[in-house]
Amino acid sequence: MERPCAWKSYDDNARAELDRLCENYRQFISENKTERECAAASVALAEQAGYVDLATCIAEGRALKAGDKVYAVCHNKTVMLVNLGTEPLADGMNILGAHIDSPRLDLKQNPLYEAGDMAYLDTHYYGGIKGYQWVATPLALHGVVCKKDGATVEVRVGEDASDPVFCISDLLVHLASEQMKKPASEAVDRESLDVIVGGRPVVIEGEDAPKEPVKEMLLQILSEKYGIDEEDFLSAEIEVVPAGAARDMGFDRSMILGYGQDDRVCAYTSLLAQLEVTDVKRTSVCLLVDKEEIGSVGATGMESRFFENTGAEIMELAGEGGTLSLRRALANSRMLSSDVSAGFDHAYADRFEKKNAAFMGRGLCFNKFTGRGGKGGSNDADAEYVAFVRRVMDDAGVAFQTCELGRVDRGGGGTIAYILAEYGMNVIDSGVAVLSMHSLWEATSKADVYEAYKGYKAFLNA
Ligand code: MN
Ligand code: MN
Repeated sequence: MERPCAWKSYDDNARAELDRLCENYRQFISENKTERECAAASVALAEQAGYVDLATCIAEGRALKAGDKVYAVCHNKTVMLVNLGTEPLADGMNILGAHIDSPRLDLKQNPLYEAGDMAYLDTHYYGGIKGYQWVATPLALHGVVCKKDGATVEVRVGEDASDPVFCISDLLVHLASEQMKKPASEAVDRESLDVIVGGRPVVIEGEDAPKEPVKEMLLQILSEKYGIDEEDFLSAEIEVVPAGAARDMGFDRSMILGYGQDDRVCAYTSLLAQLEVTDVKRTSVCLLVDKEEIGSVGATGMESRFFENTGAEIMELAGEGGTLSLRRALANSRMLSSDVSAGFDHAYADRFEKKNAAFMGRGLCFNKFTGRGGKGGSNDADAEYVAFVRRVMDDAGVAFQTCELGRVDRGGGGTIAYILAEYGMNVIDSGVAVLSMHSLWEATSKADVYEAYKGYKAFLNA
């Protein structure tokens, strides 16, 4: 049994809709490369679509009713959007979830140093990266510096054509004979992934000459441009990401090459679906969460109580307060937990089992289970729920495929699905196939982006 290629089914109207969606998506991932940027951009789009801040509703004791749309933000990094339906919340919600954090390099708290007449920023990597992919490539800095006086300074350098970029050096091949014999995991030491940020010294001679004149120059520039000093890095979150915009890929422009598509391809399409559905029977929810790449931990990860607490606040304002109602709402809910799938890659065909692999362009992926070593750690969706999802997708004409992450015992991975499943709700892993997942430039098929968006809308309306 083989699933058909979605591209073959499109008429001119569908192609035009696909192009519009993917152009907006390409722009979204070009402009938003951190969880904070994605959260802020999502809130801006939600407000345009008529969503109001839940905090305002709570402060005013404003009652919520069917048709009301609210959002809540957790520490500027995780967002929950809720569109109230006509049925009681206790009967369950239709939930879309995806993550907005991506693998990257984070600056250390004490990052700045000078060596070999150059200034560097030291990093600690975040999430699963291959160290060798991060050298000799243009990099940008995105983030915030929080000052003691309460002010937050935004940093974003390396994206505009007129901006400078940054780089981590690689060893020249002429001196690399030993390095080239190492396994790829050791070829580049991840402690040495330090970003070159300057090479010009201040010119101060005599007694006042600084010991580290290039670092001194950097500090002068940071002070002038941002009003920050070296100690302010202690309370900064600055992420090193690939510089530059996402691009159309292929002569036929059928794909998108861009950073952070894991998992912003699912996050963006889920968000759009959430913002576009109206007059729903079951309350629709979109969760865009942080920290998935490091285990869904912390206040902004899926394991935090933010989702549950926000649900309780909304139910209170909707006149359905109380612990038991909340428990029922959670247990009766359905979720598409979306994260990217490993797209079948001909160059590494032996890692995949083709009957159960995700193919680029064959539509929205459903993983009944994930995990590793005998489905270990996986949420395994009920056959009953998979049948429900099949029906919803088929009724809405959504192209979909079912898949696993590679051959048996060749690796694996986890998502946020098991966390929501703890409430007893129906959860299935879904998402978009990606080539070169976790690399600096991941590739997706525009057909899959489009089918994901259609599938999410159909699910919210079910
Ligand atoms: Mn990932
Ligand atoms: Mn992911």
